[in-house]
Amino acid sequence: MHADASRQNDARGDGPASERFARLHQELRSHTAELEEADASCAAQLDRMVTAGVMKWGIPAQFGGQEMSAADQVANFERLAAACLVSAFVLSQRNAAVSRIVASNHEPLRADLLPKLAAHELMTTVGISHLTTSRQHLGRPSVSVTPHRDGYLFDGEVPWVTAASISDLVLTGGTLSDGRQLLALVPTDDPTVTVGAAPPLLALNASQTGSLSPARTFVGRERIVAGPIEGVIKAASGGTGSVTTSALAVGAAAGVLEHFAREVEKRPELAEIAEPLAAERAAISQAIREHVEATSAERAPSESSESIRHRANSLVLRASQAYLAASKGAGFVKGHPAERAVREAMFFLVWSCPQPVVNAALRQFACLTG
Ligand SMILES: Cc1cc2nc3c(=O)[nH]c(=O)nc-3n(C[C@H](O)[C@H](O)[C@H](O)COP(=O)(O)OP(=O)(O)OC[C@H]3O[C@@H](n4cnc5c(N)ncnc54)[C@H](O)[C@@H]3O)c2cc1C
Repeated sequence: MHADASRQNDARGDGPASERFARLHQELRSHTAELEEADASCAAQLDRMVTAGVMKWGIPAQFGGQEMSAADQVANFERLAAACLVSAFVLSQRNAAVSRIVASNHEPLRADLLPKLAAHELMTTVGISHLTTSRQHLGRPSVSVTPHRDGYLFDGEVPWVTAASISDLVLTGGTLSDGRQLLALVPTDDPTVTVGAAPPLLALNASQTGSLSPARTFVGRERIVAGPIEGVIKAASGGTGSVTTSALAVGAAAGVLEHFAREVEKRPELAEIAEPLAAERAAISQAIREHVEATSAERAPSESSESIRHRANSLVLRASQAYLAASKGAGFVKGHPAERAVREAMFFLVWSCPQPVVNAALRQFACLTG
């Protein structure tokens, strides 16, 4: 087979790499219970993904990466989330940083960092919600930036950074006094940077999510990924973009439905519940693929990413509750996959959720139509 075709098949799931990916799926899934222990870390799951070559996804081959269409990447994220949501989530934050470096027009930065990221000699993550979905009501930037010599000083708090304590670089952003913003890579071992302890969460504690506080942290121009420009997040987007969050939600739902299917084997009367949920899962996966294919081809997608996210959130919430109800009291006991599924589903109500998606969920909870 031609090398390119073989690579494409691997990414889709019918080549030799797909066997490795299927093994990874099994391995990640068999270690999810450990992630619920006190002070659990995602490091071991990350190592498993490194061994399976996942860190190369989406990095151009010239830098040692594995070229993969955006649609295949999103489909693979879905499969990872079905196996282990913590792992898929941590990887998605790491890849959000990587895709912005790939999209950067700062060539020396790309040439320096992308080979190290593809070889996983460096770990990175992203802390940009204070420019999008967090602290928007405060009326002042959470992180301010001041020009200094041949770079900038960063000051403030990045409220949410997943895997900060195991990352070397955090892709974050700040705002200049004239309102322009920039994205830059801040090293976590800089003595002026404080990595906050991860607060206990409802779920996904092993993602080690905490804050990052730069205090007059100097970032040289060579570490600027994008900007300064107004609205840097929109101006400098890269990679699969916002539907990755929906892919994780749908993948989490698929994982729940795999567990549910085992109940159905014992209790066939549950099939009338599990089957429509599974059909809905397949329909949303297809909508995600169509959205990514359209945007990759610079065509207008037939459904907005926000509408897809609302459907994906709704599905994962209902599927996990249906599985808990079917599992009865046994599913309410700590350690049962149903109780974990319900807690993990809640994450999608708050993570990277644009205001229209939050509003749609709130209206649904209040049974408001229109
Ligand atoms: C587990 C987890 C991991 C995450 N990981 C990352 C990550 O790796 N990178 C990243 O960039 N982001 C990450 N996020 C951030 C996420 O994408 C959202 O930005 C975040 O959940 C928004 O919540 P917030 O509390 O910061 O929102 P805020 O809008 O800041 O709300 C905080 C509080 O402010 C008050 N408030 C809100 N709006 C108003 C208003 N209009 N008027 C008055 N008061 C108001 C409310 O009391 C609210 O509880 C993560 C979030 C979670 C939960």
